[in-house]
Amino acid sequence: MKPDVIVVGAGFSGAVMAERFASVANKHVLVLEQRSHIGGNCYDFKNEHGIVVHQYGPHLFHTSKEQVWQYLSQFTEWHRYEHEVLSRVDGNLVPLPFNLNTLDALYPAEEAKRIASLLVNEYGRDAKVPILKLKQSEHDTLRALGQLVYDKFFVNYTVKQWGCKPEDISPEVTARVPVVISRDNRYFHDHYQAIPSQGYTPMFEAMLSHQNIEVELNCNAVARLRLDAGSGAIYFDGERFDGKIIFTGMLDALFDYVAGELPYRSLKFKYETLPVEYYQPATTVNYPNEEAFTRITEFKHILPVTSAHTTIVKEYPQDFDRLDPEKNVPYYPVFTDQNQASHQRYQHQCNQFANLHVLGRLADYKYYNMDDAVANALAMFERIATDL
Ligand code: UDP
Repeated sequence: MKPDVIVVGAGFSGAVMAERFASVANKHVLVLEQRSHIGGNCYDFKNEHGIVVHQYGPHLFHTSKEQVWQYLSQFTEWHRYEHEVLSRVDGNLVPLPFNLNTLDALYPAEEAKRIASLLVNEYGRDAKVPILKLKQSEHDTLRALGQLVYDKFFVNYTVKQWGCKPEDISPEVTARVPVVISRDNRYFHDHYQAIPSQGYTPMFEAMLSHQNIEVELNCNAVARLRLDAGSGAIYFDGERFDGKIIFTGMLDALFDYVAGELPYRSLKFKYETLPVEYYQPATTVNYPNEEAFTRITEFKHILPVTSAHTTIVKEYPQDFDRLDPEKNVPYYPVFTDQNQASHQRYQHQCNQFANLHVLGRLADYKYYNMDDAVANALAMFERIATDL
């Protein structure tokens, strides 16, 4: 079958595009995936104890985007799940995001009460205050609180995760986990919070099962594409390809690093299966300070299963290195102005090719959540499907 559309990457962005082109536009779609499985970093599987394990670290779905929720609900049933995280600070497990309950856990009762009412007066009930903002409060007590939260919860975690302090990375990054002026211990506050009831992989299988879609795994798409900047033509397996190419991989790799490598952070995951029913009291416990890892996630809390064993994962952040098999998975774009400018240069190169469309966390070099990736793909399909 000669494809009408080539999609590079079978994560959320690629899978949504493939599904839409196949089922709405009735196009033949060839999906090229470099890994041995679909689903991108959401890939999960059931281990020998029946525990659904996320191979690339915890993925907790949440969205307030009605369209995204309705779209994905065509491909899966859901298990309602609201993520809660504890942070291990001074030997105690306390709720994260930092909220009024965390305040109670760290301060004597009267002092906690006094600070809570200052927070409510200053920001309002249910407000979300980025740590870098709280740390600059003009109010002495609140500024001291901001400093304490920064010191105990943020600075060392961020240095581990990003190799730099919170001030040296885009403020959006730490603003993902604001101080919350409420007693809500949930990590996310979106309207929909749930996990595909059989796991993410079966949901991706359902998305990609359309008869118009062919998926090729273990395939180096970049090596099979040739982009000719002079003519604006793209060649696939040596032949000119005039259909649409949807690219969700790394743009620096696509252009053979001509404008340098884009920095990413990678992770090393250490999985352990232990002969105990449960290891910890919440799905995720963050370790901001002493340990080399940032967090431990216990999968049984996400999709419950009866087993005498439990599986956990520890995350060790590290620099990305495309030539080192231990470090060559690019999990996070490193969000600095300089890196975004470098990415822009690659983005301009893409614009020379009328039939090349790039999207997703890697290609856009953005810290998207899963629902952002789906929403962007749905929007891109609407935009580019009009000229079919
Ligand atoms: N963060 C932190 N301490 C924590 C949790 C988060 O300093 O206990 C900061 C850190 O910089 C992290 C960012 O907030 O990279 C975003 O955290 P999030 O949990 O959203 O990261 P993800 O789950 O995407 O890795």
